[in-house]
Amino acid sequence: MSEATEYLANVKTSLMQRDPQQSEFLEAVNNFFGTITPVLEKHPEYIKANLIERLIEPERAFQFRVPWVDDEGNVQVNRGFRVQFNGSIGPYKGGLRFHPSVNLSIVKFLGFEQVLKNSLTGLPIGGGKGGSDFNPKGKSDGEVMRFIQSFMTELQRHIGPDIDVPAGDIGVGGREIGYLYGQYRKIRGYQPGVLTGKGLSFGGSLARTEATGFGLLYFTQALLQDQGEDLNGKRIKVSGSGNVAIYAIQKANELGATVLTASDSNGFVYDPNGIDYTIVKQIKEVERGRIKEYADRVISAEYHEGSVWDFDLTYDVALPCATENEIGKDQATRLASNGATVVNCGSNMPCTPEAVQVFHETNVLLGPAKAANAGGVAVSALEMSQNSERLSWTFEEVDQRLEKIMQDIYTQSAEAAKEYGFGKDYLAGANIAGFKKVAEAMLAQGV
Ligand code: GLU
Repeated sequence: MSEATEYLANVKTSLMQRDPQQSEFLEAVNNFFGTITPVLEKHPEYIKANLIERLIEPERAFQFRVPWVDDEGNVQVNRGFRVQFNGSIGPYKGGLRFHPSVNLSIVKFLGFEQVLKNSLTGLPIGGGKGGSDFNPKGKSDGEVMRFIQSFMTELQRHIGPDIDVPAGDIGVGGREIGYLYGQYRKIRGYQPGVLTGKGLSFGGSLARTEATGFGLLYFTQALLQDQGEDLNGKRIKVSGSGNVAIYAIQKANELGATVLTASDSNGFVYDPNGIDYTIVKQIKEVERGRIKEYADRVISAEYHEGSVWDFDLTYDVALPCATENEIGKDQATRLASNGATVVNCGSNMPCTPEAVQVFHETNVLLGPAKAANAGGVAVSALEMSQNSERLSWTFEEVDQRLEKIMQDIYTQSAEAAKEYGFGKDYLAGANIAGFKKVAEAMLAQGV
């Protein structure tokens, strides 16, 4: 056993003893450990500084009570979280997720991924994440606002434009960011740089809404071009119908590909003529309805209950944009036998470790979330820049920067994978490239 392998095994043992129940966080860390040994072998100074144990321990984590009054006058209590994972390269940066599944393990997993993702963007942002187990589904606008006002009343003491800058994630979109900012401003005054994903009328950036979906397609284009191909004429399966999926579909169409599916937690629609993103946007964002309604409006579309990944269809590229672990071993096997050769992750950790294993065995190329969906946070960092200089850039300027950032992320991931003997394993490459920058910053700043 090499020094590096032994060191990693020891760190893992102590982590399992400390956090045996945090399954999502352990999955994310294990995935990272599986790719980092050659870096530690090359850099014994990282072991000497115990960098890995330091890296997987958040700098700090807050949990707080969020009491609020529902429309019937009952007092409800939810849990709020914010994990400030690593600030060595910039202020903590990462979204807030409002979903019943949110707990400390999920927030830590997302925060850890965010550290590496933010590093890959090349911009000066550290990693953090937060959220609540509040379920926005079925809540009135007034309930969402009152919950958020209570949530921010506590969160505001921990954040600031140069300290920690939250944004959206699942369950937190433009409306929620507006209420979050409104409450922050009431307590702390005008500081637009404290949140990103803001509305355009109060300091938001053009192209932030589109950024994750557009970025996913720029990354996909870069990956395909490196294999001597491109998006033109490609058949794509998308899951999800939220912010990431909608703009992924738009950009895929613009680049000449056809997106055949979109989904929500009940089922999916299949449209052989190509999904029209404007209809998905109308149903999901304006009417807050279900994807089923797409098939009521578009004659060529059909609706099916269940997972889009269990549906056989010939296609080239998979873009999971829904949620965690949506592609397991069986779905991965089916995906490969349907002819798909590329999977790029729009959502965070959509593939189980068993699915990733199948992709390795079947030579399906995998663009991991921390690389492929980094466009959202990258444009968040550009929003912070614009807020600092009190200027706003044009859509084209932001979009061009985004495209360049995504191409660079692909190149860094591909080169790191090659350099450390991982071939076309971009998951390993992204872990390594993201980690090295954070490691250098941590080392330079002492213990
Ligand atoms: N929630 C997004 C992500 O997973 C965006 C975070 C941000 O803009 O800060 O990267």
